[in-house]
Order: sequence, then C-alpha cells, then structure tokens
Amino acid sequence: MMRKDLIYILLLGFPLVGCKSKIMQNADYRQNWNLLEKKNEALAFDADIHLSEAEVRLDKKLLQMRQQFINTTEQHKISLYNRSFNEIRPLIESSELFKVINAMPKGGLLHIHSGGLTDVKWLMMKARKYKECYVYDQQDNGQYIFGQMAFFEKENVPEGFVQLDKKLISDPSFEAQLQDLLILRRSTLCTYTDYWIEFEKRFKRIGLLLAYRPFFKEYYLKGFQDLVKDKVQHVEIRFNFDELYDFKYGKYPLNTSITDLQDILKTIRKSHPQFTFKLIYSSFKFLDTQSVENQLERAFELKKEFPDVISGFDLVADEATGNSIYSFQENWEKLKEFTKKYGTEMPLFLHAGESNSIFNKNTLDVSILNNQRIGHGLNLIYFPQVVERIKKDDKLVEVSPISNQILGYVSDFRNHPARVLLRNGVQCSINSDDPGVYGYEGLSYDFWIAFIYWELDLKALKKLVFNSIHYSSLNKNEKKEAKMYLNQQWIDFVQKANLELKAKSLKHPEAS
Ligand SMILES: [Zn+2]
Repeated sequence: MMRKDLIYILLLGFPLVGCKSKIMQNADYRQNWNLLEKKNEALAFDADIHLSEAEVRLDKKLLQMRQQFINTTEQHKISLYNRSFNEIRPLIESSELFKVINAMPKGGLLHIHSGGLTDVKWLMMKARKYKECYVYDQQDNGQYIFGQMAFFEKENVPEGFVQLDKKLISDPSFEAQLQDLLILRRSTLCTYTDYWIEFEKRFKRIGLLLAYRPFFKEYYLKGFQDLVKDKVQHVEIRFNFDELYDFKYGKYPLNTSITDLQDILKTIRKSHPQFTFKLIYSSFKFLDTQSVENQLERAFELKKEFPDVISGFDLVADEATGNSIYSFQENWEKLKEFTKKYGTEMPLFLHAGESNSIFNKNTLDVSILNNQRIGHGLNLIYFPQVVERIKKDDKLVEVSPISNQILGYVSDFRNHPARVLLRNGVQCSINSDDPGVYGYEGLSYDFWIAFIYWELDLKALKKLVFNSIHYSSLNKNEKKEAKMYLNQQWIDFVQKANLELKAKSLKHPEAS
C-alpha cells in the first residue's frame, strides 16, 4: 500500500499540487487584470458618466454601426487610415452614422475663428452680389495677392482689381479657381505644402471683406445659422477686432462689431431662443510686446463695456514662426494692473502646443497663467507635469481633429494625441477651428472623425458634448439654463435615434 501510495503521490500528487497553484495563479492573474482594467477606466475623462437604459441601447447600436461601416470599407479595400479628410469626406457624408451625429446636440463650439466661420463658396456667391466688390486678378505683389477680394468705391479701385461679378461672368473657369484659392485642402497625406503660408493666404483673400459692415452682418448671420442647423447652441469666437466701415459713414467705432452681433443674435433667437455667443479678443503671436499691450488694453476696455460678451484674450498664429508665450511675460505682468484699472478680470484662452515639437514649450506657460482653456495642446503629452497641473486645475483642452490633419500635425487620425489625453483624464471638447477655410460647415464632421477613429462610445460623446457647456465662459445663470436645455435636447435625441434606428432595422433586418 505504502509503495502504491508513494507511486500515486509521485505520479499524480505533485502535479495536483502544481495544478492547484496554477489555478491560484490564474485567479490572481485574472483578478489583477480586472483590477487594472477598472483602474484604467476610472482614470478616463468620462468615468463619471452613467448611461440610462435608453442610452445603453443607442450605444450598442452605434458601436454596431461603426463596426459595420469599418467592415464595409475593408470589404471594398478602402483604407480609412492613410487618407486625408478630403478623401474620406464623401464616405462620411454617405454613412448612416453621419445622420445620427448630425442629429446629435453638440452643446457649444468653444474654438472657432472669426475669419473661418462659414462656407467660402457661400461667401464668394454673396460677395459677387455687391457691385462694389472687387477681386485682384494679377500676380501677387507686396500689397495684394491673386484672388484677394475687397470692397471699393468706383472711383477708388486700385490697379489690378476687377469687379468680382464681371470677372466670374467673363471667365467661366475663375469660379473654381477662386474656390480653390479660398479652401485649404490636404489632398493627400504625404505631399509637402507649407500649410501655414497657404492657410494665412486664405485669410488674407477674404480679410478685407469682413470689415465691410453690410457684409459683416450677412456673414455672421450665415455663420450662426450654420451652427444652429448643426445643433450647436452656443459659440465662442476667437475674434479679430477691426473697425467696421461702409461708404456712407466711413469707419465705425470698435464696439459696433459687438452691437451688430447682438442684433444678429436677436434675429437668430426669434427661432432659436437658447442660442448664445461670446467673443475672445484675439491678437497675434507675431506682434511685439508693445502692440500686444495696446491690444490687451483694448480688450479690457471692451470687456468693461460688454462684460457678458467678451470672455477673455488669446494670441493666435503659427507657433513655429511666432513669438513664444513666454516672451510676452511683460504683458502677462500687466494683466494685474489692467484688472485694477478696469475693474474686470481678463482670463486667457491661449492657443498653446499646436505643434509636434518638444521644443515648443507654450503649454508650460498656460498651465501657470490664469488660462481657462488650452487651444489645441497637441504636444501636451510630452510634458507630463503640465498634464498633471491641467488635470488638477480642471482646465479644458479644445481639440480640433480636422484642422490638425489639414495643417499637417496629425496624419492618421487614430494617432491624434487627444486620445492619450482623454484616456488620462484630461477634459477636452470637440471643435472645428476654421471650418470655412477647410471647406465645411458645422461640427458634425469633427465628431464623426473622433467617434470612428478614437473608438469612442456614447458615454464619451456625451461627456465631450456636455464639457462644451460646462467649460464655456457662460455666466452662472446662462450656464444653468444652457445645461438644462442641452439635457432635454440630449434626452430627445437618444429617444428619437433609438426609434429611428429600430424602425430601420425592422425594415432592413439584414443590415441591423
Ligand atoms: Zn485656432
């Protein structure tokens, strides 16, 4: 017996003990894995969102639709990952998901520039209706560039300018040519273009149009209408203040832009009473300290006069060629003095880290200054201490996926740095930056890109949407109302989307 037992132990006993410890090890492994997964999820930016039953239903459906979309592109050998926004745009527009995202309330658009607000095709067609609108059709010179538009009185038209409408009639190819000169496209991901030079030329071509008061009014009315149509309820515009003018009265004081915008808002509010806007006074990083100081003081004057319209100050332009935020130290020092003088604060909303380089350290400054939100923050991920500070101070990063690809910072959208930020609990919102210059309107395209390429779910979409109101510069009461409105819009959207998608799957069960 003893020998037999010994044989059993020798043959089976040890393996049994080993097996038991292996089971233990597997259990530990699973437990650790689950714990780690939970810890990671708890770190994510949307960890506090809990979906309702209806939202869970929609979420499942959306994830299914995304998978289906990706499968179809794979079947047709269409690579989603090495194509530019322009190349995939028809795919976006024909997708079922785009319809859902179109219908989704977007909350606020927190990052858009006054020069890129609306469709340039509309702008061109609108401008030609003014007999005083001219276009420069000669080679670039020191003052004007080919395709630059402006308003002139008949007797003061500079050499090289022709009436826009006449030019478009006499030269049938000019419409397409001008359109190309007004829209910045990144047609493929690998050709080399100096995007910022091209980008700034586009602003120059339309810049002189926007200060002409009659045109200014039409432009912003259209811009606000585009947003309302795309379910955006609030907008904050990085605004370049120019004195408006017309040929009857000449130049108007600087604040006319604001009172005109308030009138336009009244028109919009007749049909969309919840719509709101704020302006962020924007100056330029390529200016010197003295010029920025003058602009800063102007911003304070306007904020004192319109505390509910002006929310803060920003410096824009290419960060690679412009001055660093650090170099404006004197201006930031001056903030305290101006705050005292004007009795109002001037929060900053600086563009920082719109760069792929670790030598661009603008995000360090914004984490130290009284900076409310960070424009772009693409290289933030290389400064972990800054990320920590931003998280601790609960500051938002304004992300603009399509703009980042068109300007050459990101090629494959899957590798957008905002994904890293979101997973690490940095709060972000989705923005369009300059949709007019990129040839589109609204915010749906950017949300579509984020949803598809960043593998978001409804929880993430909801958090991004609600962030755009939570981190807006609406005052306490405005914010409360805006959140209530958004909440109701969101509930309606979920309910309608569920009903529509259910009806569709009953009609085409094979596609569901
Ligand atoms: Zn911007």
